[in-house]
Amino acid sequence: MPRNIALPHIESLASYEPGRPIEEVARELKLRPSSIIKLASNENALGPSPKAVAAMRRALATAHLYPDGGGYYLRKGLAKHLGVGPDNIILCAGSNELIEFLFHAFVAPGEEIVCGDRAFVIYKLCAATFQAHAVEVPFRNHTHDLDAMLAACNGRTKIVFVANPNNPTGTRVDNATLYRFLDRVPNHTIIALDEAYFEFLNDPPDAIRYITVKRVPNIIVMRTFSKIVGLAGLRVGYGVTSPEMVDLLNRVRQPFNVNSIAQAGALASLGDRAHIARTRRLNKQGLAYLGGEFRKMKLEFIPSVANFICIRVGDGRAVFDALQRRGVIVRPLAGYKMPEWVRVTVGTMPENRRFIRALKAVLE
Ligand SMILES: *Cc1c(COP(=O)(O)O)cnc(C)c1O
Repeated sequence: MPRNIALPHIESLASYEPGRPIEEVARELKLRPSSIIKLASNENALGPSPKAVAAMRRALATAHLYPDGGGYYLRKGLAKHLGVGPDNIILCAGSNELIEFLFHAFVAPGEEIVCGDRAFVIYKLCAATFQAHAVEVPFRNHTHDLDAMLAACNGRTKIVFVANPNNPTGTRVDNATLYRFLDRVPNHTIIALDEAYFEFLNDPPDAIRYITVKRVPNIIVMRTFSKIVGLAGLRVGYGVTSPEMVDLLNRVRQPFNVNSIAQAGALASLGDRAHIARTRRLNKQGLAYLGGEFRKMKLEFIPSVANFICIRVGDGRAVFDALQRRGVIVRPLAGYKMPEWVRVTVGTMPENRRFIRALKAVLE
C-alpha cells in the first residue's frame, strides 16, 4: 500500500485485540484444539440453546434468499418479550455495530463523547475512528462514577456511554444512582446504556421504562444475543429506544445487516427460558467457586455481577502467556491500563477447576 494514502487519523489507530480463537492458539503452540479451553470472550459456557440450533438448521434451507431486512418476526418477538412496540427496536449485527450506528448518526469530527476510563474499550476506539474526542472519566472503586460523568457532559457532548454491568471490571452501578443520572443528562446528549450482561443481574434496572413510559427520546438501551443466550458467532443484538431514534439509526444501517440464520436463532433463543435459567445458575455457581479459590490463594479480585471476573496476578501479560501454553486462554488487560490483571470468563465447572489448577501452577 502506498504511504499516506489512508486518512491520517486511521493511520494512527490500533486495531481491537479480541480474545484469541482456539484454532489460532492451537496452530501457534502446536496443541490439539480439543485440549484448549477459551475463557477469553465472555461467551456462554453451555453453548447455544438447542432450540436456537434447531431453528437455525431450518433457516439454512432458505439461505439463498436475502434476509428480512426489517427483521419483522425478531422485532415482534423482542417487543412482546420486553413490553415495548416493534418501532422501539433496532436490530444490529452484534451490539458493537449499534455503537457504530450511533457515531454515524450523531457524532461529527471534533465533537465529544463521554465514557469511563475502564469502560468497554470499543467506545473510545469508535470515537477515534470518527475523529471525535473521548472524554474518559476515572472509575471509582472499579465502577462508573456517574456523578463525575454527568459533570463531564457539556454542550458539545453527543453521547455518554455507560456499560452496566461493565466489561472488563464486572461491576455495576446501583439502580437509584442510575435513575438519578438518567433524570439529569441534558437532552442534547444521547445516553447509550450498554446492557450486554443485563440478564445476569439479580436486581436489574428498568431503563426501558424511561423510553416507553417517560417517553425520553435520547436514551438507547443496547443488548446482545452474544452473552446470555450464547450466539456470539451469529452476530446479533438490538437497541431499544424512541421510534424517532430508531428511524434515524435505520438511515445508517445497511439493509441486510442481520442475516437470516441469526434472526432465526435469536428469535428461538428468546423462547428458551430454561436455557437462560441454566446459564444463570451455572454462572452463579462458577462465580462463587472462583471467588472462593481466589480468596484461598490470597489473590485480589473484583467481585463481579457478570459472567467474567478480573484477578490481579502481577504481570498480566506473562500470566496470560503461561496459561495459554497450558491450553487456557484468558484475557490480558494492559489495553485497559490494568497491566497487573487478567480477566477470565466463567466456564463450566470442569473448566473453572482446570483454570484454577493452571493458575496455581503458573503463579508458583
Ligand atoms: C460483549 C460486549 C458487547 C457486544 O458484543 P456483540 O457481540 O457485538 O453484541 C457490548 N458491550 C459490552 C460491554 C460487551 O462486553
